Amino acid sequence: MCGIVGVVGTSMVNQTIFDALTVLQHRGQDAAGMVTSHNGLLCLRKDNGPVSEVFRTRHMKKLHGNIGIGHARYPTAGTSSSAEAQPFYVNSPYGISLAHNGNLTNTAKLKQEVFESDLRHINTTSDSEVLLNVLAHEMSSENKLIPTPDDIFNALERVYKRIEGGYAVVALITGYGILAFRDPDGIRPLIYGSKMSESGGIEYMVASESVALDAAGFTIERDIQPGEAIFFDVNHKVHVRQCTPKKVPRPCLFEYVYFARPDTVIDNISVYKARINMGDRLAAKIQREWQDHDIDVVIPIPDTSRTAALQIAQTLNIPFREGLVKNRYIGRTFIMPGQAVRKKSVRQKLNPVPFEFKDKTVLLVDDSIVRGTTSKEIIEMAREAGAKKVYIASAAPEVRYPNVYGIDMPAVTELIAHGRNVDEICELIGADKLIFQDLDDLIEACIDEKHSEVREFDTSVFDGQYITGDIDDAYLERLQEARNDSKKTSSAVSSSSDMMYPM
Ligand code: AMP
Repeated sequence: MCGIVGVVGTSMVNQTIFDALTVLQHRGQDAAGMVTSHNGLLCLRKDNGPVSEVFRTRHMKKLHGNIGIGHARYPTAGTSSSAEAQPFYVNSPYGISLAHNGNLTNTAKLKQEVFESDLRHINTTSDSEVLLNVLAHEMSSENKLIPTPDDIFNALERVYKRIEGGYAVVALITGYGILAFRDPDGIRPLIYGSKMSESGGIEYMVASESVALDAAGFTIERDIQPGEAIFFDVNHKVHVRQCTPKKVPRPCLFEYVYFARPDTVIDNISVYKARINMGDRLAAKIQREWQDHDIDVVIPIPDTSRTAALQIAQTLNIPFREGLVKNRYIGRTFIMPGQAVRKKSVRQKLNPVPFEFKDKTVLLVDDSIVRGTTSKEIIEMAREAGAKKVYIASAAPEVRYPNVYGIDMPAVTELIAHGRNVDEICELIGADKLIFQDLDDLIEACIDEKHSEVREFDTSVFDGQYITGDIDDAYLERLQEARNDSKKTSSAVSSSSDMMYPM
């Protein structure tokens, strides 16, 4: 997962991009980058680390220009080298920089084509660099000294024919504008907005989540549609083309469960409202299937599950208590390679308020159970704090399959629910009872008939249905190999000598 942003402004955009990346920081804290363009020259800063560490005053001062793009990275394919920080750049044609959220599912084939037919070099293992080179090749094929929006869209139509997967992209074409586009199913989110600047000109921002636009005072125009491209030119004109046959969006369900900020709206569905509905539906399941429950208190596993947990407590008429306190100055557990580190970091991240557990039967609520590390550790903590019984409810169904569209999920063998039923998972994590949301309920929780045309989602991590239709067993086997823990640990070496033109 990553966060991307592009801004066409009437004054320097460095601060606006920095602020947007800070708002999108939850989408990736591994690396950050920004490229701006001023009088035909590009200014780039990218490195490993969160936004506030990557961009110091000395870097910001050099990021000149009224147009630029930014990226916050969460590694998908198991590497944390700063060589893979984005945006990526190619000098020909025009000088194109690109930032990408998602995952291409035919990278191996593309890479071969890029080497053998397009005669281009790829310097990292990142699919985003491959994507940039495919785009650059197709733009070159137009053979235009000064490309018009139509030339750019014609090239992009050929890019769409070559690439597969889930992706949202912003590309800065030096001297011409910012091109933004989204995969044909709308799996990864992308939205744009506008505002009048103080000087009276119109400015545009395109970003992964609406919250980035809100925070910077942009008015939301709309989500970019599946298979649609928008080109914001340097004269602040907006050009639109549907580059693949129109489809209704099938956004990633996991954005609503966990990834997106609650104050974001994706494809006209409020993430916050969806999480409230998840709580309501889970509470209804508890009432239906477990009428004689003896829960004394509902405790969320912070932060994401809080919205759903509060609804569960209210519906069941049971006290809601903040029994676990989160240290917000420590990275997300999931990012860290290796199970031992992950286990330890759950303890560093969450600490119980003992009297909320002592002699009580508690219902812990989490948004999802992936490896089971968090739930296992917290159940143990709850018992150490004196809980009588510990139940756990997950606002998402069992995560049984790998994600191939850009969400960092472990190898399938590391998913606690893979090949196990609820009782087996319950025993492994040491709970007295475990309840998962049903997939149909989760889907219903996210559908908002009044505001959104979305009726279907990418549900692959829950049901193994890969909507792009190109995922076979061989692909999943290669993924398993790339994602297992030992691979991640060995490739987690970072280098900082990789910037193309360091600042
Ligand atoms: P686990 O400890 O592996 O079961 O992970 C579950 C916890 O990690 C939940 O509390 C989620 O909030 C969070 N989580 C779920 N999916 C992801 C993800 N792809 N990346 C990071 N954290 C996640």
